[in-house]
Amino acid sequence: MNHEAEYCIAGGGPAGMMLGLLLARAGRSVVVLEKHADFFRDFRGDTIHPSTLDVIAELGLLEAFLQLPHDELTGMGACIGGEGVRVADFTHLPTHCRFLAIMPQWTFLNFLAEHARAYPSFRLHLQAEVTDLLADGKRIAGVRARTPDGELEVRAGLVVGADGRSSIVRERAGLIVHDIGAPIDVLWFRLSRAASDETEALGRIEAGKILVMIRRTDYWQCGFVVPKGGYDNLRARGLEHFRDEVVAVAPFVRDRVGELSSWDDVHVLTVKVDRLERWYREGLLCIGDAAHAMSPVGGVGVNLAIQDAVAAANILCAGDPTAEATLAEVQRRRELPTRVTQALQVFIQRQVIERVLSGTGRVKPPLPVRLLDRWAFLRRFPAYAVGVGVRPEHVRSPVAAAVAPV
Ligand SMILES: Cc1cc2nc3c(=O)[nH]c(=O)nc-3n(C[C@H](O)[C@H](O)[C@H](O)COP(=O)(O)OP(=O)(O)OC[C@H]3O[C@@H](n4cnc5c(N)ncnc54)[C@H](O)[C@@H]3O)c2cc1C
Repeated sequence: MNHEAEYCIAGGGPAGMMLGLLLARAGRSVVVLEKHADFFRDFRGDTIHPSTLDVIAELGLLEAFLQLPHDELTGMGACIGGEGVRVADFTHLPTHCRFLAIMPQWTFLNFLAEHARAYPSFRLHLQAEVTDLLADGKRIAGVRARTPDGELEVRAGLVVGADGRSSIVRERAGLIVHDIGAPIDVLWFRLSRAASDETEALGRIEAGKILVMIRRTDYWQCGFVVPKGGYDNLRARGLEHFRDEVVAVAPFVRDRVGELSSWDDVHVLTVKVDRLERWYREGLLCIGDAAHAMSPVGGVGVNLAIQDAVAAANILCAGDPTAEATLAEVQRRRELPTRVTQALQVFIQRQVIERVLSGTGRVKPPLPVRLLDRWAFLRRFPAYAVGVGVRPEHVRSPVAAAVAPV
């Protein structure tokens, strides 16, 4: 089976689906290859930031988006040493929506896919795992993929690697990766949510323990942070011990921590922070986590992936996508936000998370956090950093009248 298209995107995550939608909207022929059979991915970023909501509004899709089941967080808080503190206030942001939308990633990706499919030049292949690149001399000319119906070859003017942190595209292209390092891993699990759970704290911190709790409709999506490799130690001490650890940091789940009935209920996510030296080569561009794997700190990875896609579409549609200079412009545009965000994440990993995880004494909110809690206007700064970030992108790629969906 063979296809030809102007663009072939490897990976149907936030970066790949948004870029596919924008290119198809501009009338470009685009094939997205996604290795999974659907978008169901429980243990990934669920946060849709105000700057991403701006992009959705610019596409004219905000009303439809807000009709999907979601939660709206107008602020962010934490519980440190049993003390509740407020750290971010989104209600003053200069954006369409002054809240963080919490929505399972599969709902968001299905939404993007549904709107992309409305354009005739868009094609999405599920269960198509990219296994190799095709080359014409030095130039990347397409990809080879494995599907249930056999091998698929897609030839394209530009291949985009949006296949995430373990990108096969960047590996096959021989792009150089700088590992910035992440001293933590995250154990993800669910606990049911009771009507009486009043906590708004997204993060809970006690000596040696950090637990993130994301509110979903009827359950909590929990992330227990451990030092890198710490899962094996924890597992060796038994499930009962792990349940006790969870209760120590979130006492209100004592009555339901037994829902963790085996280690199969706990999923380990290895955290990586890295960045490509060069995001492109002839015929190929990487964006999103494939270009720069993000730490979960701040929950900004989905937003960065979306912003990369918007910038890439703007630049590719305005220039010659086959020219290296155009691809270099995408990297130039997105490198600063990536570097600044990763630097902040690494700072927090080292100065806050590592210290908490290795600490034993009583934990108290540090002075900067106390000031945030005390002075409401200060909470606008972390809100801007998380909700908008460095260099937010706006949709400038065209809508091709001939292909506008009916
Ligand atoms: C534990 C953890 C928690 C996180 N929490 C948050 C959060 O709360 N908020 C947030 O914003 N970010 C969070 N992040 C980061 C966020 O998940 C990523 O930064 C974001 O998903 C990157 O989007 P992407 O499209 O670049 O890559 P991905 O989301 O990784 O998507 C890549 C896609 O490519 C597909 N794929 C991979 N290989 C192939 C192949 N060979 N062929 C075809 N398809 C392929 C994958 O199936 C996937 O669909 C978290 C990350 C981790 C590790």
